[in-house]
Amino acid sequence: MYNFLYYKQEATPRTPWFFENSKLPIILSYLAPIDIWAISFGPWVWCRGKLDKVTKNHEAIHYHQQLELLFIGQWILYVLYWLKGLITYRNGEKAYRQSPFEREAYSNEYNLEYLKTRKAFAWRNYREINNNKT
Ligand SMILES: [Zn+2]
Repeated sequence: MYNFLYYKQEATPRTPWFFENSKLPIILSYLAPIDIWAISFGPWVWCRGKLDKVTKNHEAIHYHQQLELLFIGQWILYVLYWLKGLITYRNGEKAYRQSPFEREAYSNEYNLEYLKTRKAFAWRNYREINNNKT
């Protein structure tokens, strides 16, 4: 069903467009209350320095989550899961970590072959905390 978008099994899975040694995170850090090392938006990822393979893989997993939810769907769900976690744990860091999008990315970032075999909407298997169907 999603083939028209992108979803054929590709020999080389799509990755976002990485901009390393970028000034953008530095500029945004003047505006934001935190120091930004790297920032991702849609198909682009900007980083102050070099991104290692694991971080690139993590961001590429998020990129695939966004592709299958037409970007806007992932952004909305991402915020909703974060708010749900915030209500449950009352802790921003925990709320971020329990999001199914982050749990899929963190669980598989060291597997550099992951995106070659990842099924569409695989993040759905990470919705229940103790129920990983990987
Ligand atoms: Zn992440």
